[in-house]
Amino acid sequence: MNFYERAPATGALFLLFLKMNKKNLYSYVWFLVIALSLCLSACQPRVSAQSGNKQITVILSLDGFRWDYPDKTYTPNLDQIAADGVKAESMIPSFPSKTFPNHYTIVTGLYPDHHGLVNNSFFNPELNRSYSMGAKDSRFDPAFYGGEPIWITAKKQGLITASFFWVGSDVPVQGMNPDYFKKYDGSIPYINRIDTIIYWLSLPESIRPRLILAYYEEPDGIGHKYGPEDPRTFEAVHEIDSLTGILYKRIKMLAIADSVNFIIVSDHGMGEISPKDVVTLRDYIPEKWPVRIEGGNPIFNLYASDGWVDSAYIALHEVPHIKVWKAGEVPAYLNYGQNPSCGNIVVVADSAWSVNLNRQLIGKSRGTHGYDITDSDMHAIFYASGPAFKQAYSQPTFKNVDIYPLLSHLLGILPAPNDGDLNEIKGMLKNPEIKK
Ligand code: AMP
Ligand code: ZN
Ligand code: ZN
Repeated sequence: MNFYERAPATGALFLLFLKMNKKNLYSYVWFLVIALSLCLSACQPRVSAQSGNKQITVILSLDGFRWDYPDKTYTPNLDQIAADGVKAESMIPSFPSKTFPNHYTIVTGLYPDHHGLVNNSFFNPELNRSYSMGAKDSRFDPAFYGGEPIWITAKKQGLITASFFWVGSDVPVQGMNPDYFKKYDGSIPYINRIDTIIYWLSLPESIRPRLILAYYEEPDGIGHKYGPEDPRTFEAVHEIDSLTGILYKRIKMLAIADSVNFIIVSDHGMGEISPKDVVTLRDYIPEKWPVRIEGGNPIFNLYASDGWVDSAYIALHEVPHIKVWKAGEVPAYLNYGQNPSCGNIVVVADSAWSVNLNRQLIGKSRGTHGYDITDSDMHAIFYASGPAFKQAYSQPTFKNVDIYPLLSHLLGILPAPNDGDLNEIKGMLKNPEIKK
C-alpha cells in the first residue's frame, strides 16, 4: 500500500478523532499509536518487485567458444572466474546450433521454433519474405523476431538495460530496444566495447543499466577458418580469454563491484570439417523443381511447393552423410520443425560432414557448427561470478533455454512464458528462492 492508497484509512481515522470522547485518555493513546504507525509506513519508499534486489548483471557472449577449449589451451582468466564462481561442464545449444537462433534463444528462453529465428537465413511463408542475418532489410525487421527478449521484460518492469551488439538488440522488437544499445558493427575493437561497458557501469544509479549484454565475434571466425583443433584457433581462444579477463578485472575495480554478477556464455561450439566430405543438394534437387532452399552448411530448410514435398524427400532421404526429415517428423529432442519458417523438409549433415547447395559454394573452411545438439562438439560454455553465485561451484551440463529464467531471477523480475526452467540450474545460486 502506498501513501495514496492509505489516504482513505487516514481520513477515516481523523473523523474518528473528531467524534471521540476527549475525556477518554485510553482512546487518545490508541489514536496516537495508530496514526503514528500509518504516518511512518506512508513515508517509507514503495516496495516493488525490484527494490529488494539492486544487483547488476553483465552477460558476455563469446561466439563459437566450444565447451572444451579451456582443456585444450591456457585460459587463466576463465579459470579464475570459475574459481570465484560457477563453471558449467557445458551448455547445450538449441537446434540448429547457429549464431542467430541461439543468441536469441538465450535472451528469450524460447527454442528457435518458438521465437521464429529458425536459422541464420530462412524463408517465412506467413510474411512471404526471406530472412538473412547478412541482409539488413530483413535483419532489422521486427516482424521476424518473436518472443520477448530479456531487455523488454526488464524494461516493462521498470529496469534500465544496455546492449553492445547482442543479436536482436538493435532491432525494435515490440517497438522497443534496450535503453542503451549500439547498431551492430563488427569492426569496433573489443577494447572499445569494454570501455563502454565500464562507462555504463559508472553512470549514476538513477540512469545506470541493471542488465548489460555484450558480444565478441571470436573465436568463431578463426574456428571456421582453421578448425577447432588448430594451434591458431587455440591462440585466438587465449586472446579472447585475456579480453574477458580485462573486462572482469575492470569490473572488479569499480566501487559497485560487489553488486555485479558477471556471466560468460557462448552460443555454440565448433566441429572439424574437411572440404573433401561434402554433400551438394543440387545433385539431388534440380534447380527447375519448385523447391526453395534456404540455410547454410550444415543445416538447410526446404520449402517445396504443394505436390513436391514427397518428391524432394524421396530424392534426399537415402543420401549418405545427411539426415533428412519432413518438418513434422524432426525428432522431439530437437524441438524443431513446427514453425512454418522451418519449411517442409529439414536437412542437416552428419557431424564432420558438410552440406552445400552446389559445388561452387564449397569453401576452404575447416570448421563449422549447426549440427545436431547431441554432438558434444556443438556444446557451449557457461561461467558466472558475483554476489548471486556460489563459489567454485561445478554446474552439470544444462540447456541454454534456462538462461532467460536465470537472468529474470538475477534482476528480480517476472519472466515471460518460456521453455526454460530455473530449477535445472538453481544449484549454482546462493539464494535460489524462485519467484512465482
Ligand atoms: P555464424 O555464421 O553462425 O558463425 O555467425 C557468426 C557471425 O554473425 C559473426 O561473425 C558476426 O559477423 C555475425 N553477427 C553476430 N552478431 C550479429 C549482429 N547482432 N548483427 C549482425 N551480425 C552479427
Ligand atoms: Zn555463433
Ligand atoms: Zn560461426
